[in-house]
Amino acid sequence: MRRRQAEKKICIVFGTRPEAIKLAPVIQQLEAWGKPFRAVIVNTGQHRELLSPYVRLFGIPIHYDLQIMEPNQTLNTVCSRALASLDCIMAAENPDLVLFQGDTTTAMAAAMAAFHRRIPSGHVEAGLRSGNPESPYPEEMNRRLITQMATYHFAATQGNRNNLLREGIDSRKVFVTGNPVVDSLQKILEERKTSSSLEELVQATKGLKLLVLTTHRRESFGEMMAGNLRALREFTDRHNDVALVFPVHPNPHVSAVASEILSSHPRIHLISPLGYDDFIHLLSHAWLIVSDSGGVQEEAPSLGKPLLILRENTERPEAVESGVARLVGGNSEHLTLMLEEVYAGGTWTEDVKRVENPFGRGDSGFRIVQAIARALHVSAEKSPRESEAAGIDSRFLASEEAREPAPALPA
Ligand code: UDP
Repeated sequence: MRRRQAEKKICIVFGTRPEAIKLAPVIQQLEAWGKPFRAVIVNTGQHRELLSPYVRLFGIPIHYDLQIMEPNQTLNTVCSRALASLDCIMAAENPDLVLFQGDTTTAMAAAMAAFHRRIPSGHVEAGLRSGNPESPYPEEMNRRLITQMATYHFAATQGNRNNLLREGIDSRKVFVTGNPVVDSLQKILEERKTSSSLEELVQATKGLKLLVLTTHRRESFGEMMAGNLRALREFTDRHNDVALVFPVHPNPHVSAVASEILSSHPRIHLISPLGYDDFIHLLSHAWLIVSDSGGVQEEAPSLGKPLLILRENTERPEAVESGVARLVGGNSEHLTLMLEEVYAGGTWTEDVKRVENPFGRGDSGFRIVQAIARALHVSAEKSPRESEAAGIDSRFLASEEAREPAPALPA
């Protein structure tokens, strides 16, 4: 006779768009697994307007919406408001595991809320390190603090795992799972849904070399961002077969300088931030991507697109080592030289199409949930057929004949 397992409540906390993109595949896999997992999903609302389309796109059910965003919020107000609200949720729900992703203030507050309540927790995208606590700021420090407070660490790459082991983290608590951004991106490409406005934009730039730009990081604000935007405008001006598309982040540090430097040019398109489906499809049409975003460094290799990284350093060296990305540094003259080098030809834009994606194969959500099941001693209660359809390894099935030890996940 099948014995019912005690329910395992997994509290998933996010508050910004990259967290929604990267936790959606984990939530979908928890749902696919079914009992005894029960997901309790918390949106802190660290970003509001930017985030809601992602929640809708991935169909994420929100159980708690903390709406912590305030005008002129500071890191300390975000942190204290998130921590206070999350503490109430921890007390009310008493979950078996708290799950968070990445390096945001939301993720750091969730790790701390769980730690203070002595609730086990898991960190998705663990082990990224730039080596400089000031850059990216405050993300690098958030990552280091989260590592100290989390119980389980889901590292995207072997390099990320090595970073954690060097810091003395117990190797049995570190799982190499790939990055779930690859799962989300593949799903979007399969669904092939784009808006008519994106189709129009793609048509308008057809036949031109399409350069897609994103920049909104704190470290880029000010003269560095202005210099980079001037270099990009001059480059687009010099070459009449180049079009530049820039989905402009709503932060006034970005939107003001973008409209000052890049507006009123026939081949430069300043547009509102795109939904994930449109953004990924836009990237898939790119000749070259220029960005300071972290997620885009994982998406470029997933799409086989060349990327110039507008940063001094990167915590994703795999993108550079694989040959897909090149670091520009903080100097706009260097950006100009690199843009001209790509324009002059060479094989880079073709070579990147053949690079193996260092961030995974699109099964990361599944691997993370497998690791959670193993850590919490959970087996699937679905029938073998349902489990197979959901992609659950047969050794996790609850039936007696399938009660072999859970598979060791690759280190
Ligand atoms: N993104 C998007 N629409 C846009 C620009 C970016 O959907 O107009 C996505 C992008 O694909 C990436 C994520 O937003 O996955 C990156 O978010 P952000 O740059 O805010 O954070 P970071 O990746 O730097 O942590």
